[in-house]
Amino acid sequence: MKALVLEQQENQTLAEVKDIELPPLAEGDVRVDIDWSSLNYKDALAITGKGKIIRQFPMVPGIDFSGRVNESRDPRFAPGQAVILTGWGVGENHWGGLAAQACVKGDWLVALPEHLSARQAMIIGTAGFTAMLCVMALQDAGLKPQDGTILVTGASGGVGSTAVVLLKALGYRVAAVTGRESTHDFLRQLGADEILPRSDFAQTRPLEKQLWAGAVDTVGGAVLAKVLAQTNYGGCVAACGLAGSFELPTTVMPFILRNVRLQGVDSVMVPTAQRGAVWQRLAETLPASYYQQAATEITLAQAPATAADFLQNKIQGRTLVNIHG
Ligand code: NDP
Repeated sequence: MKALVLEQQENQTLAEVKDIELPPLAEGDVRVDIDWSSLNYKDALAITGKGKIIRQFPMVPGIDFSGRVNESRDPRFAPGQAVILTGWGVGENHWGGLAAQACVKGDWLVALPEHLSARQAMIIGTAGFTAMLCVMALQDAGLKPQDGTILVTGASGGVGSTAVVLLKALGYRVAAVTGRESTHDFLRQLGADEILPRSDFAQTRPLEKQLWAGAVDTVGGAVLAKVLAQTNYGGCVAACGLAGSFELPTTVMPFILRNVRLQGVDSVMVPTAQRGAVWQRLAETLPASYYQQAATEITLAQAPATAADFLQNKIQGRTLVNIHG
């Protein structure tokens, strides 16, 4: 089968589309014919070798995919059934979605929700799934549209752009932080009510004027520190990313004086039982315009060059990979 294959030579990661063989299915595994995958920040780190994502080579990258069951040794899945996969270490330590087929544990698969096509599922992909988890974390913290503005950082990226659309669709006022003036029109089209330059978030005091009821942070570092210092009394910040830095140069002040909650969000190990509901909410909440505005489609052969663009902050919205394009 055709796959993007990563190999390691003299400390360099090489990425090439090749024909390879998948192993036979083990008990509980499902072979999926993949139609669509996507590129996420983690895929960009893996494909370029700029992040220590992959430890065993050769590896097929691709942390998510959608397709149809080809063969199943799990009684819950039958040939022809439409399925989605995100996370579980697929594309990191298990051959992934940037390929014509994948063999994965049935436990890792989610049935494609009604009213969502396989293509739409991968426009959403891991990034969109994570954006929904962040929005649900804010809702679980009790934040309502009338509580005030929600800030989204790294807003032009995959997680950020989807979070902007979701929050807007749910009635929140949304402020977007971006490092790029070139994406302002894009962010306004998605529904951002206010746009702030990333340069405003370089320095912070332990506590600043309270501006945000909550936030979805995809970048970490100094930006997240400033967001925490500007969060309203009793607010919540959902932190899922490190596109700026994995460090967090903050103080305890927002937590002990303003009752601010910092809620971590992970998408990789979300229990299977919870995933269907998250996808259902995505299918119900995202407007049709999201799938046109937020997606760029590429082929498998274009994935390595596009991965390099990710790390130079040249990508906006979501990148969909047409496996058979
Ligand atoms: P993208 O590359 O699509 O988006 C990242 C955005 O971050 C960019 O578009 C840019 O937004 C901003 N950014 C880039 N470089 C910097 C920088 N140096 N300083 C501050 N901001 C920067 O990535 P994704 O949306 O796919 O992922 C976003 C983050 O979320 C990543 O760190 C990723 O690893 C993480 N993630 C975590 C998951 C989890 O399970 N916890 C799942 C999915 C993603 P702009 O140009 O608007 O400033």
